[in-house]
Order: sequence, then C-alpha cells, then structure tokens
Amino acid sequence: MGGVDGPVVVGLDNGGTSNNATVLTVDGRFLVDGLVEIPSEVLAGPEAAIEALARAFDGVLALTGVPRGQVRAVGLDTPGPASATGVISSRGSTNFSQPAWRGFDVRGALERRLGLPVVYHNDGNAAALYAHHAYFGGEAMRRSSVSAIVGTGLGGGVVESGRVVAGAAGMAGELGHVHIPLTGLLAPDQPVPTCACGFAGDAESVASLTGIARNLLPYWLTRYPGHPLAAEPPARAAKLVRGYGERGDALAREVFTQQAMALGRLFTVAANFTDPHAYFVGGGVVEAEPEFRDWFLATVREHTVLRAEQAAVATFALVPERDTAGARGAAIAALEALRAEPAPRPLVGG
Ligand SMILES: [Zn+2]
Repeated sequence: MGGVDGPVVVGLDNGGTSNNATVLTVDGRFLVDGLVEIPSEVLAGPEAAIEALARAFDGVLALTGVPRGQVRAVGLDTPGPASATGVISSRGSTNFSQPAWRGFDVRGALERRLGLPVVYHNDGNAAALYAHHAYFGGEAMRRSSVSAIVGTGLGGGVVESGRVVAGAAGMAGELGHVHIPLTGLLAPDQPVPTCACGFAGDAESVASLTGIARNLLPYWLTRYPGHPLAAEPPARAAKLVRGYGERGDALAREVFTQQAMALGRLFTVAANFTDPHAYFVGGGVVEAEPEFRDWFLATVREHTVLRAEQAAVATFALVPERDTAGARGAAIAALEALRAEPAPRPLVGG
C-alpha cells in the first residue's frame, strides 16, 4: 500500500453484512492487498447504508493515503436483483428486505452523496469482470468468458471483449435461471429440482446452497439413512456439505457431482451461445481443500461438451480471491467507464 500521485478509481462492494473497498490506479494497479471491511448497515435501510458506503470510501482513501481529489470515478456492486443502472428490484430482495429499498436507486444515491460518477454492477457481474481481467491481463480486452459463482444462489456473468454483457433490461448473465437438461443428471427416482424464481430444473435449482437445502439434500438423505446431516436444519446442513465432501463423504460427493454436472451443462449452453475463451467457477469451492477443489473443477470440465476446435482454445479456471473479487471488479468497471470512447458513427442510415 502507500500513496500514489496519479488519478485513481475506487471499488466498493456492498454485501449483506459488510462493505469491502479497494483503490485502482488508472494504470491498473490495486493499492489494497486484502480486505478492508466495515459494516454495511443494509438492514437499517438505504439512508444508513449510503452513509456506510461513504465511510468505506473515506476509509480506503485514508488507508492508502490517496487524496480525495485524485478519485475520478467509483465502481459499486451489490447483491441483486437490481437493474443494470443500480435500482433495487421493486419486489425487494433477500439482502434488501426493508420496504424503503424497493425500487431504490442505490447508484444514483451514492453518486449524489460522493459527488463523483458511480458505475454499477451486481455482485456476480463484478466478480466475473475481476476473474476475466485477473486471468487475461493484457489480453483481457480481446477475450471473452463466462463465470458461474455458486453461493446462496447461482450468480456470475458474461464478459465479452473485456466488458460485462448487461443486456437491454440489465438482465443478461442471469446464469442461475438458465434451464439445463436433467436427463442423466438426476437419479432415476429423484424429483425435479425447483428454484425460488419459479422455474423447475434451472441451473440454480441444483448448483447453489439453496438448491442443496431445498432439492439435493432432501433426496440424498433418503439414500443415506442415518447420515449425520439428517440431524441438522436444512440451511445449516447445506453449508456443512462441503466440509463432508472435502473428507470424501459419499453423500456429499453425490451432491457435488450433481452440482458440477449442472455447471457443465450450463457451460455447454454457453459454448453454443457465445463460445467463450474461458469458463470460470467461483464461490465457496474456491476456498476448499485443493484435492476437492481440483476434483470439482475437473468434474465441471468433464461435463462441459465442447467441439474439438473449442476444446483446443478454451480454459477452465477458478474465480480468484473470492472475498475481494467484487470490489476489484467494481473498480475495473469504473476504470473502463473512465476510458470509454464515444460510440462509433453508424454504418447504416446515419
Ligand atoms: Zn431460477
């Protein structure tokens, strides 16, 4: 860490319990190594949460010794669902439960509070952007990738030529709610998994903590009677499965095999849709024991059906630095916005 003379952007990652912040120089150096976390106060409502973000902003500048006048733009990410311009869903969301959050323009509010341009992405898109740039470095603006991040839900994003694909309504890259084929993934007597979004058999219904608690564990516990996880409440049991998997527990490996197959089938859809250079997997599995982590990624790859030409150029890797990926991705988005060139002249009818 330490001060710099040139202009910088700040990345702010807003989470359910804490904010994380980073500083990125315009020549692409992060000035913060680890986590700079402070409480996010999201549960206290939008006003308190915007103040908490402003404190995170001031705090990371104080820590890195960068004067406020050197900040050119701010990147912000929050959990979804929110629009591409940072308006929280009018139906509310798990993290933004207070009614005042519904339809709240968190990006605009932070921009007014800080008096600086604020660029917004949801947390999955921000982490996907970081994974892409961290992996490809100098080649990033000429490469494409898809990231699937397994958490409470299944988040992630699609990056094309170094930029997040946001979509017309800001709803691109909702990988969790893409339907996947279930034949050969489910056991013959296993019920079709359902998702909180109302779909049956989408990627999140299998590859998420919610999917484990709601669909996978209830089934696999019937196949392994007397398993210690049967004594735990479902939400807690879902979080404990990974530890069992790391120790080679048979039930846990069945659950994670199904999750890896689901991600492989999702990536097979991506292969035929945007044909990316890289497929990234993120979430808790990144922090797992190396043997388990490598087995999981290899199983995802095994179930991703690529043509020979694609297999020759495609890479499979983990989303690095799970804890800081959101803030770093948000900062990269701010830097991209800063460098953005004017839209090219129309080729037809201009
Ligand atoms: Zn869904």
